[in-house]
Formats: sequence, C-alpha cells, structure tokens
Amino acid sequence: MAKVPDTPENATNCICGECPSFPGEGGFFCAKGKGAKDVRRRGCICTDCKNFREFDLADGYYCADGAAGDGPQ
Ligand code: SF4
Ligand code: SF4
Repeated sequence: MAKVPDTPENATNCICGECPSFPGEGGFFCAKGKGAKDVRRRGCICTDCKNFREFDLADGYYCADGAAGDGPQ
C-alpha cells in the first residue's frame, strides 16, 4: 500500500520534472512506483516537495527504488 494517495491533486505537487535525476518520463513516482528508465542519481529534490512533508516521507529516489511504502523501509 502506497503511502501517498494517487490523486490528481497530489500529482500536481510533484516537482520531479525539475530534478537533476529525472529519468525523462513519468513522475509522481512516490505514488506510481518507479519508472521504466534507469536513473542516474544526481540528487533527489523530493524533500522540497509538498507531498514529502504532507505524507511524512523519508527516503526519496522513488523513481529508482519504487513507491513510498513499498517493501521494507
Ligand atoms: S515526493 Fe518526489 S516523487 Fe513524490 S510527488 Fe514529490 S517530487 Fe514527486
Ligand atoms: S523521485 Fe526524487 S530523484 Fe526521482 S525524479 Fe523525483 S525528485 Fe528526482
């Protein structure tokens, strides 16, 4: 069960498109899960995102590691 509700409102908060590690497609990875493309880890700006604070997230790099709340964390 993902910790971030997959709603249009939450999707609009996503700032992945401004991130140096953005894999080029997709976004809202904390709810949608990781993207199809490999990620070069050049920093994660999730900590600047409204959803990160609102849903008390901790990790980042959801584009590479999968959605928040998936698996052991
Ligand atoms: S926490 Fe990260 S992946 Fe989730 S909406 Fe914000 S910028 Fe996008
Ligand atoms: S999940 Fe984090 S590392 Fe990946 S694109 Fe979004 S802000 Fe960047």
